Amino acid sequence: MGRSSKDKRDIYYRLAKEEGWRARSAFKLLQLDQEFNLFTGVNRAVDLCAAPGSWSQVLSRKLRGCAEKAEKGESGEEVKIVAVDLQAMAPLPGVTQIQGDITKVSTAQEIIRHFEGQPADLVVCDGAPDVTGLHDVDEYIQAQLLLAALNITTHVLKPGGTFVAKIFRGKDVTLLYSQLKLFFDGVTCTKPRSSRNSSIEAFVVCQNYSPPKGYIPNMSNPLLDHSYDVDFNQLEGPNRVIVPFLACGDLSAFDSDRTYPLQLDAGKEYQYTPPAQPPIRPPYQQACHLRKKNLLSREDAPSVCPTQSQDEPEP
Ligand code: SAM
Repeated sequence: MGRSSKDKRDIYYRLAKEEGWRARSAFKLLQLDQEFNLFTGVNRAVDLCAAPGSWSQVLSRKLRGCAEKAEKGESGEEVKIVAVDLQAMAPLPGVTQIQGDITKVSTAQEIIRHFEGQPADLVVCDGAPDVTGLHDVDEYIQAQLLLAALNITTHVLKPGGTFVAKIFRGKDVTLLYSQLKLFFDGVTCTKPRSSRNSSIEAFVVCQNYSPPKGYIPNMSNPLLDHSYDVDFNQLEGPNRVIVPFLACGDLSAFDSDRTYPLQLDAGKEYQYTPPAQPPIRPPYQQACHLRKKNLLSREDAPSVCPTQSQDEPEP
């Protein structure tokens, strides 16, 4: 694929680079905020599964202001943003990074340490496993990640706080809704315009955190701990939780499944914009290097390559 063909096909990919976002996902959080006003009164926020960091960029710009220098939010309180990912992430102003696993209680403890015992106002999670293409497996792993994020959230979120997370709307999604509804007064499933219609991905916006009385946060996972032998779609009455689904935003936003022509001034050629932040240690770096040198299928190919490749990330 040529360097510019993805630019031409995907308007959010192109806009992300033009506006300096590390990934097109930034638009998903921005559009969710337009609909749900997520950042009002927020001074402490956690970004789970944050790499390469476009949601953290949104948090940084929205909570700290455009100057990206401010240490105090609108209310005058100190702004603290913690970003967690398994992978290393290039630094961002005002964002503390934890390279860790969100399924581990030690990660929750590290977040709490950073907030000096004070709870977070907002937790967001755009976590996704490496998809296998086997839908049931992908949905199951995504559900596990969401439950891990929920567990961490119960350790760090203040009562009344908000939790936003990526969810796959697969056949057992109603079980996840039921679990979220135990902890939040309002649960809405929504799909921003920048999330492709062709993708099973959506987002849950969970408002007003109010855990069951006497609930003690723990990291156990109900899906793993119990064997549910039920078809959740057969549940009826109070056992079945129906969560409202909301198409987020109006038709004025770009449709992420459409291809828009490039807006070029007469006589001007298309100018390629490099990614705002190339990946720092991508797993495909060595393969890119070998392919460039035409060594990919050679047995005598060197096993290491220069540390920082300037190759553009593969889709
Ligand atoms: N929101 C990010 C952004 O805007 O740049 C994109 C997130 S990307 C879609 C999903 C991330 O989830 C990957 O960086 C992956 O490393 C992370 N992830 C998956 N499982 C994880 C886990 N158990 N703990 C921490 N991060 C995890």
